[in-house]
Amino acid sequence: MPDRPSPWPDSCQGGVSLTFDDGMQSQLDTAVPLLNEHHLSGTFYLNPRGGDVSEGETPSWRDLLTPWREVSVAGHEIGNHTVTHPCSWAFKKERGAGLEAMTLPDIEFEIREGQRRIAAIIPEQARNSFCYPCYHSHVGEGPSRQSYVPIVSRYHSAARAKGDYANFPGTADLHHLSSCPVERYSCQQMIGFIEQAITGGQWAILTFHGIHQGHLSVSDVDFRGICVYLADNRNRIHVDTVVSVAELIAEWRTTCNDR
Ligand SMILES: [Zn+2]
Repeated sequence: MPDRPSPWPDSCQGGVSLTFDDGMQSQLDTAVPLLNEHHLSGTFYLNPRGGDVSEGETPSWRDLLTPWREVSVAGHEIGNHTVTHPCSWAFKKERGAGLEAMTLPDIEFEIREGQRRIAAIIPEQARNSFCYPCYHSHVGEGPSRQSYVPIVSRYHSAARAKGDYANFPGTADLHHLSSCPVERYSCQQMIGFIEQAITGGQWAILTFHGIHQGHLSVSDVDFRGICVYLADNRNRIHVDTVVSVAELIAEWRTTCNDR
């Protein structure tokens, strides 16, 4: 048995990562200031779309990423969510663009180029994680359907998918992590999910989109509530970015395997 029964530091019983998808304005306006106020680090998954220069109303990918550099400097993770956010066409009535029409080289380009653009604007960030657009991790369909998880693993040490359960440090696939979409959750519902995870020594990942913005929203009152709660409980709940917690777990697994 390992000397350390869990990867969690000090007196912590479990871990939490707060993740935010799609680079929404309310994340910059509301989530980042509240996280900073409570000394919490979050993970923001961005799509650096667009050309190299702005064209009329369309910003360049450099314009899109520039505000996030300061967020990275403040200690948050800027994660890769591909360039154009390709999802399954099963979300739509008609076939057209979609993961089913893509090949593994197509999705590899999306991953590599997304990461190249983030690194160009935020070169100080040594490592980051990936997030599957629409939580989908395949290309093709039926007999040609293939997982693109192995490709992600070549570029990132961790990747976030979706699930209604928290991750066990010993068994979670670090390249296909479960994360609970918490849109329309109250603060109390989020605390319930977190407490259940902590009791089991698990890592709860929460997925946010807008804070009081869009159709997958959490209210700013509930978001502030979860920040206060995590700050008040930092002696028993380890809160960090996805890439940092994944590396903590990977290191802990190595020490387990060494004996
Ligand atoms: Zn997304």
